[in-house]
Amino acid sequence: MGAISVEQWIIHKFGGSSVASPERYRHVAGIVARRPERRRAVVVSAMGGVTDTLLSAVNLAAGRDPSYREVLTGLRDRHREAVLELLPGGEATPLLERLEQDFTDVANVLHATWLLRSHSERALDLVTGLGEVWSAQILAGHLAALGEPATWLDAREVLVVNRTPARLEVDWERSATRLERWLDARPEPPATLVITGYVAVTPEGLATTLGRNGSDFSASIFAALLEAAEVHIWTDVDGVMSANPRLVPDAVLLDELSYNEAMELAYFGARVIHPSTMAPAVGRGIPIFIRNTFRPENPGTRIHVAGTSRFDVKGFATIEGVALVNVEGTGMMGVPGTAQRLFGALQESGVSVMMISQGSSEHSICFVVPGELAEQAKAAAERAFFAERHYGQVQTVEVVTGCCVLAVVGDRMAGQPGVAGKFFGALGRAGVNIRAIAQGSSERNISVVIDEAEASRALRAVHGGFYLSPQTLSIGVIGAGVVGGELLDQLGEQAGYLKREFNLDLRVRAIATTRQMLFANGQIDLAGWRAALGGADSPTDLEQFAGHVQADYLPHAVIIDCTASEAVARRYGDWLARGIHVITPNKRANTAELDYYRRLRTTSRQHAVRYLYEATVGAGLPVIQTLRDLLQTGDEIRSIEGVLSGTLSYLFNVYDGSRSFSEIVADARARGFTEPDPRDDLSGMDVARKVVILAREMGLPMELADVRVEGLVPEELQSLSVPEFLASLPQRDGVMARLFEDAAKRGEALRYVGSVASDGRASVSLRAYPLDHPFARIQMTDNIVLFSTRRYHPNPLVVQGPGAGPEVTAGGVFADLLRLVSSLGASL
Ligand code: ADP
Ligand code: ASP
Ligand code: MG
Repeated sequence: MGAISVEQWIIHKFGGSSVASPERYRHVAGIVARRPERRRAVVVSAMGGVTDTLLSAVNLAAGRDPSYREVLTGLRDRHREAVLELLPGGEATPLLERLEQDFTDVANVLHATWLLRSHSERALDLVTGLGEVWSAQILAGHLAALGEPATWLDAREVLVVNRTPARLEVDWERSATRLERWLDARPEPPATLVITGYVAVTPEGLATTLGRNGSDFSASIFAALLEAAEVHIWTDVDGVMSANPRLVPDAVLLDELSYNEAMELAYFGARVIHPSTMAPAVGRGIPIFIRNTFRPENPGTRIHVAGTSRFDVKGFATIEGVALVNVEGTGMMGVPGTAQRLFGALQESGVSVMMISQGSSEHSICFVVPGELAEQAKAAAERAFFAERHYGQVQTVEVVTGCCVLAVVGDRMAGQPGVAGKFFGALGRAGVNIRAIAQGSSERNISVVIDEAEASRALRAVHGGFYLSPQTLSIGVIGAGVVGGELLDQLGEQAGYLKREFNLDLRVRAIATTRQMLFANGQIDLAGWRAALGGADSPTDLEQFAGHVQADYLPHAVIIDCTASEAVARRYGDWLARGIHVITPNKRANTAELDYYRRLRTTSRQHAVRYLYEATVGAGLPVIQTLRDLLQTGDEIRSIEGVLSGTLSYLFNVYDGSRSFSEIVADARARGFTEPDPRDDLSGMDVARKVVILAREMGLPMELADVRVEGLVPEELQSLSVPEFLASLPQRDGVMARLFEDAAKRGEALRYVGSVASDGRASVSLRAYPLDHPFARIQMTDNIVLFSTRRYHPNPLVVQGPGAGPEVTAGGVFADLLRLVSSLGASL
């Protein structure tokens, strides 16, 4: 073998996901052809899905289902097509003949299986390994056709293994000798050896396999035999991720792992690497790279002796389909050899135990076994404690099936306090019940047993607990009109800064309008949300919307309602009850019947969620927050009074007698300062709603009907259409002009004001104020609110500023969002 080591082989393994179609073979051949090393061995799996199909054909035949023949025909066609596409005419022929021969053999074996109504292990081993045999020849043939000298090595000629149901041992010596002989038989070893993964041969010369996913193992065995410098395992993900990316969308790529970490992750079910891959590489210190066939330019994950990395905790994985066996009894306490007896009995009956946990009282031992061995394990445990059971010292041997082991893995967890706390905290918050716990004394993993049904939720929760900012918010915005649209734009501008400066992770994951909704699993790119929403074609369904926003792998969910819809407002109660925070500038919920308002308040308290609505009064001005601060610090509110409508504020600020009132209304409407139907503003109802919100915040049990409203639209104009209303509004000009002139004569200005006093009196009406009164001095769309309180008396506390327009309203909603994240622990 001396000659080989100087050549420094590099091993590449391409899994089934990398060679699922002729096009993928071409891609793989391209990667191989571009490799810089002088010598390489390419270990290849069967085409994606082929091993499963071969297995099912065997089972169908054994079960006397004649459809196994069609299954075989399908497989044969799939391979023939690949050969015809990838090998030029002349070179295809020998391989096509070989395929025919193999399929005839398989048909014969399966016919025998059919007759016998059962299959032998040998038949299974022979048949299921053929996918690799075909695949390697296709790749070698294709490389040769591209002018890339490549030779096929059938691993069944060199790789010798001893296989028992419980163990698989490589016969290193024999395998090395055979490989040497194989290479020596070729005068000039080719630059590329294409080796069949997964298959091997027994010392007796029978075809066998290395077990499911065994091609990874093949790669590292050949790395050891060829004394390779590196092993590259090419698959369909960027490398080893912090959790299975199919289950945890937020999984991150791990750039480095130690052998130990990789082994633990693989053991706990991270299919991306096979546990036995490690052993041959570890012994010889050969680094393993896990890389993406679809993105060959990425370096992938490097697995080597001591992976250093910025993460203490590396990965999370689950093993599903396990059973928990619990042996309980007073008779086990302090009796030496109890565990030995139990595990001895389990070993004898061929049950391998995956995890053990014993309480220090020794009152019970529980262990985890593969689900299909549960009954066997129970029987073995009962046998082991036959006498104790007879004398009542062991009371129960109980089996819980449908369980799952969830593990967290990382070398640097050792000696790091707080890791377990975080792990269990995350499970607790997600409401996952833990049935058993074990921590290896290596402190390299903590594993828990949970119900299988909770596996993916638990996995996402613990992953989020370690890898996400604790202030990661899943955000859904309903209503993408002026305010909602502006909010999305503001979020798009600020999110990057908030992430960098404060580690806030604000992810808008859903947007809904009355017609359609747009979802993203990660987050919607806010730079292009308008186009994306325009292209969305799923009709709005608020139930589905809430379900999407409340993703179980993200710590917090919030829905921001930027509509004016009563129907949306009626859903807040349910959202809050299921743990979704609600933020809104929509006044409907807080002005619905008092009972609903109270339900929202109590629900949010009970479920520890926030219900925030600063922008319902005074848009972005701090009105609600100021009121809360006063109340919570023990002040007493005597009255609140204010110009609470930006539209009406504007109308009366502009109305100076030079133009008629109706002209000003029409002009304001044209500029978008009023509602499409100006009566919505002029009726005073919008102001009345704000008064109710303030009154309820003060603790008054007020309904909308309790507010005395003097609107600016006379009864007879109420029933007209909008154009008719605008046309008849000049009839009111005379009345308005008189009011204005009377006030002006007294040195006063007209203002439309809402007020509420602590005795419960509330009103909305047009009033006149002396020119030096704060109300008379406001500008444009200003809102102004005077709080008269025990402390702020006789001079009231005044909040004033622009109180209408999308920018300030959206700003108010955004401020509520930041209030929410502060209450979730962010220090802003
Ligand atoms: P191949 O056919 O290349 O052998 P596999 O399907 O056996 O590929 O393994 C790759 C798959 O492993 C990925 O598609 C992914 O779903 C799964 N996987 C499980 N855990 C992890 C993890 N922690 N990191 C990356 N992939 C993982
Ligand atoms: N083809 C085999 C399997 O599917 C081996 C492998 O792909 O690793 O299990
Ligand atoms: Mg695999």
